[in-house]
Parts: sequence; structure tokens; C-alpha cells
Amino acid sequence: MIGAVDIGGTKIAVGMLDRSGRILARRERPSGSELPVERGLALIFSMLHETADEAGGELEGIGVGCTGPVDPLTGTLGRIQFLPGWQGCRLTSELQNEFVVTAFLENDADAAALGELAWGAGRDAKRFIYVTVSTGIGGGLVFDGRLYRGVDGSHPEIGHHVIDPSGPHCFCGAHGCWETLASGPALAEHGRRSSALEVCQAAEAGDPSARRAVELEGWYLGLGFANLINLFVPDVIALGGGVMRSRHLFWERIQLTLRENCGLVPFEKTALVPAQLGPNAALAGAAQVWIKGSQFND
Ligand SMILES: [Zn+2]
Repeated sequence: MIGAVDIGGTKIAVGMLDRSGRILARRERPSGSELPVERGLALIFSMLHETADEAGGELEGIGVGCTGPVDPLTGTLGRIQFLPGWQGCRLTSELQNEFVVTAFLENDADAAALGELAWGAGRDAKRFIYVTVSTGIGGGLVFDGRLYRGVDGSHPEIGHHVIDPSGPHCFCGAHGCWETLASGPALAEHGRRSSALEVCQAAEAGDPSARRAVELEGWYLGLGFANLINLFVPDVIALGGGVMRSRHLFWERIQLTLRENCGLVPFEKTALVPAQLGPNAALAGAAQVWIKGSQFND
């Protein structure tokens, strides 16, 4: 069995999975910026020991998906906004010392991409892109079964490619990133409501301003997908994250935008499909981080 760790801004989840992605045991605890790294590590260790005991199999290795930035090549955590004291923690070394098995670490969006590729929406896709649209927009690219990495193991930031240079300023420094225009908070802003979900519900109920906001969201989403398709022409783009649960509201506008913007590539061959792993995505992804890590070990 494989140990899986998902470290997020508000919670840490740990599980034991078998080789088919089935969760044998799991635990969850709150994280947050006030959690010191020593206590966080102790928490992760104890949850791994507990779930391993409960599942009862032999631990082969441990995979971790963590909110970024992380360095997958050294297994070290970067300057994570939600976990300020954790920077520089050599997480995979700590896990290897405690459990005497190999451990691998990836950005959580890359982990989710690997999970969807193996056990979800990306099965058999040679060119696969996973996109998650929620508080922000992130994703991972997997070509021929291997996670695409930038120089020095860097994680490509697909949420920060520019859709409209005259758009709002983003914390990353640019103006009009995909994330500033099409994330959940952006949709809430377009619809002048407190959440993306409220806008979607109002649009379903026929509210004209919410319907306009949803049209705009579909257009911005469509522009981003069109860019990804023009650049990579993947077999599959899997759509995850809370906003995508309302994808039926944006679908027509997305399709229209693809037809308008992808004139030189066979865009209709790219399947835009919902992510399939749902609440298990993060742990499944973390388990795949170890499976892929032990295969390719780079
Ligand atoms: Zn940005």
C-alpha cells in the first residue's frame, strides 16, 4: 500500500491507498498559518502511522501533494502563503527518515493531474491537461505519462497566462491573468454577489445580471481553454474545482469561443471532460506522485 499526504491551506489529509487507487484508511486535521512546522510534521507522522496500522498492509512508499510553491526535485517546501513557517522543510527526507521508504513531493495541482490521468478523466490520454477552477486557477500537464516540468523542476502557472492585458492587476504582477478573470472570486465579482455559487444559482433562476456574469465567465474560460488547445492540442482537458460543477452554465459560450479561436488546430478532437475523482482527488493524486516518482525518479 501507498501512503498519501495532501497538505492544503486549511487542512492536512492523509491516507493509505492500494495500487488501484482505493482508499483503505484516511485521516484529516486542520492546518492553517498558526501551525508550526514541527507540530505539522508530528501530525503527519502520527496520521500516517495510524492509517498504516488501520489498513494493515506493508507500506511501499509515500507521495505528497502540497499547495505550492514546492521543489519536487529536492522534496523541499517553498514559500507557501498559508504555511509561512514551513519554508525550507525537506519534507521527503523527513518522511524517508521516519518510515524508511522512498517519498516524493509535487505541487497539489500536478498531483491531482497525475491522479486523474491514472484513475480518472485522463485514462489512456497521451496528451493530458488538468485544470482546476476555484479560488484560483491551476493545473498540470502530463505528456506520454510524464508530468511536464519547467526548468529546475518549476511548475508552469497556467492560471497566470494573460487573457486581457487591460484586465485587473494580479498578485503575480501581471494584469488580466486567466485567474483574475475566470476564477470563482472573479465570477462573484462579475455577478456582484458574495460567491460564485450564488451567481450560478441566480443565473439558474433566470436573473438577468447573473446570466450576463455567467456568459462572461464562459467567454473567459473559453479563451483560456482555446489558448491551451492552440498551444498543445491535447487529447483531454479535465476540468476540476468548484466553479466547474456549474459547467453547464458556461458550456455553450466555451464551445463558441473554441470554434472562434482554434481555427488552425483540430480543436474538436480535444475532449473537455469533468474531472472524475471528486473528494478523493487529492489523496489519489498524492499516491500517484509516489508511483510516478518511483518509476521515473528524476
Ligand atoms: Zn497572475
